[in-house]
Amino acid sequence: MTELGVVRRDRGAMPAPVILGLVALCFYEVLSSGASLLAGRFASVVVSAPIAALILVGVLRGHALAFRWGVIMPFVALLAVATSGDDTVIAMSCGVLLLAIPVSFSMPSSRRFFGLECPRCHATHAKPRDLFFNKRQCRACDTTWLE
Ligand SMILES: [Zn+2]
Repeated sequence: MTELGVVRRDRGAMPAPVILGLVALCFYEVLSSGASLLAGRFASVVVSAPIAALILVGVLRGHALAFRWGVIMPFVALLAVATSGDDTVIAMSCGVLLLAIPVSFSMPSSRRFFGLECPRCHATHAKPRDLFFNKRQCRACDTTWLE
């Protein structure tokens, strides 16, 4: 295993799949918050809106932790939508929007934007080596680095 220490990278412009995931995230949050407010479920908005805002800021900054939450959160939210018994058009739309987020974030250009490209072998499948995803490890060559 090779340790490279701190690696600086040029994030470049936000790739189209990240923009698509970001738009889907925003639409989902507006739709689900609106539906929750109409149904009088204020606690749901109080919990989900700050989480969505944190993910939004992380995505704009290209942080790998936002990538991780952008992939995990939709499945948790999809489970909540599926178990709510709500079969309205809004609920169905939320499901489609939710699936668009992990799919678009998993594209190679998205993974590069989130700093998951190995600086040594250029594989784009890094895994976290610490809680905040600042230290990463390449799944292909085991190289570790910090961002
Ligand atoms: Zn590698």
